[in-house]
Amino acid sequence: MDFGLTEEQEAHRKEFFEVCKELEKKRPPSFVGFEAVFEIDECWEFHLHCAKEFAKKGWLALAWPPEYGGTGTMMDRVLFAEARGYHGIPGADIFGVQMLAPTLLQAASDAIKKEFLPPIAQGEVMWCELWSEPNAGSDLATLATTAIKKGDEYVINGQKTWTTGAHRADWGFGVFKTDPAARKHHNITFILLDMKTPGITVRPIPYMNGGAPFDEVYFDDVHVPAKNIVGQENEGWAVVNLLAGFERSGMSEIMAMFRELEGLVKYCNETKRNGQPLARDPLIRNRVAQLACELQAARAIAYRIADLQNRNEMALMDASAAKIFYSELGERFAFFATDIAGPYGQVKTSRWAPMHGVWEKAFQECFITIISMGTNEIQRNIIAWYGLGLPRMK
Ligand SMILES: Cc1cc2nc3c(=O)[nH]c(=O)nc-3n(C[C@H](O)[C@H](O)[C@H](O)COP(=O)(O)OP(=O)(O)OC[C@H]3O[C@@H](n4cnc5c(N)ncnc54)[C@H](O)[C@@H]3O)c2cc1C
Repeated sequence: MDFGLTEEQEAHRKEFFEVCKELEKKRPPSFVGFEAVFEIDECWEFHLHCAKEFAKKGWLALAWPPEYGGTGTMMDRVLFAEARGYHGIPGADIFGVQMLAPTLLQAASDAIKKEFLPPIAQGEVMWCELWSEPNAGSDLATLATTAIKKGDEYVINGQKTWTTGAHRADWGFGVFKTDPAARKHHNITFILLDMKTPGITVRPIPYMNGGAPFDEVYFDDVHVPAKNIVGQENEGWAVVNLLAGFERSGMSEIMAMFRELEGLVKYCNETKRNGQPLARDPLIRNRVAQLACELQAARAIAYRIADLQNRNEMALMDASAAKIFYSELGERFAFFATDIAGPYGQVKTSRWAPMHGVWEKAFQECFITIISMGTNEIQRNIIAWYGLGLPRMK
C-alpha cells in the first residue's frame, strides 16, 4: 500500500485533530486511562458529550454506506481514531461504533441494520459485549449460557463475566447456546438485547485499582425478541470471527502511546538525576529511540489493516498480528516509563505524580489489552494455524 496521505485525507486528518484538541480542553481532570469512562460519572458524561459532538459531524458513521448515514472512507476512520487516541478523547463507543456497526453492515439483515445502526451513528445508544463466561474465555465456543427459542422469543439463562461497562450500556450484543444438542461452533447464536430487560442483573467486579469498570451479568429467564439475531440461528460463530477482527486493530491505543512518548521525552529533558537531565543518559536515549521506532511500526501496521479492510481483504490473522504488536508494545512502554520515573512512577493522584499519574495507570492497565479481545497466546495460535499453516497440537 501507499503509506502517504492524499490532500483530501490530510485535510480530514487536520479537522479530526482540531476538533479533538478543542474537546481535550473540556476533559475532566479525573479522566486518566481507558477505564475512567466506565468508572467515573463525570468521565462517562464527557464520553456522551463527545459522542454527540462527533455524531453531528457524521464521524460515528465513517466508512458506512450512505443509505445508513455513512460518510468518509475506512482511512478516515483510522485518521479519526488517531486524533481521538492522541488527544485522549472518548466518544466513539468501542463496542457500538468500533465493533458492532461494521459487523452489522456485513452480517445483519436489512431490518436489523435499519433498526440498530442509526442510534449508533447518533451517539444515542451505548453497547457492551456479552461473550466471556466463567468457564468460557479463550475457548469461547464452550459457553454455557442458553437462549432457547419459545414462539417469537428467546429465553436466556446463565452468566457472563468480564463485561466491560455493562453497568453503563443501554444494549448488549452476546453469544448464546441456542441448540444444546448440536456440535460445538454450530450451536451458538449472536443476539442483540436491551440491558434493561427484566431478569438481567449486573454486578460490578472490583478492580485492584479501586474502581469497578467490569461486571458480571446474570440472566434469569430473560425474554428477547427472536428477530434480534445477527446472521443465522446456530451460526453465530461466523459473526464472532467477523467482529473479533474489528475489535483487534487498535489505532487509538497506538496514538495514545505517541502522546505519552512526547510526555516521556519532555520528562526526560526536564528531570535531572545526579545533576544531569535524564535525556543525557545514553541507556535512556537508546530505549526511547527504540520505542519511537516501534510506535512508527505499529502505526504502519494499523494503516495496513485499514487498507486491507477497505478492500475487504483482511484475514483474522492480520488483526491478531496487530493486536499482539501494539498490546506488547504498550506493556514495554508502561514498564519502561515507570522504570524511568522511579518511585514517583507509583504515585497516582498528587502533585508528585509525573504526567498526572498516567504511568501509574498505564502500568496497572497495560496487561488488559494482552488478555482482553482474546489473549495473545490465542492470537499466536491463530497466526500459526491460519496464517502459517502450522499443524495443530493433538
Ligand atoms: C480487562 C478485561 C476486560 C474484558 N472485557 C470483556 C468484555 O467486555 N466482554 C467479554 O465478553 N469479555 C471480556 N473480557 C474477557 C476476555 O475476553 C477473556 O479474559 C479472555 O478471552 C481470556 O479468557 P479467560 O480469562 O477465561 O482465560 P483462559 O481462557 O482461562 O486462559 C487462561 C490462560 O491460558 C491460556 N490459554 C488458554 N487456551 C490456550 C490455548 N489453546 N493455547 C495457548 N494458551 C491458551 C490463555 O492465553 C491464558 O493465558 C475482558 C477481560 C479483561 C481482562
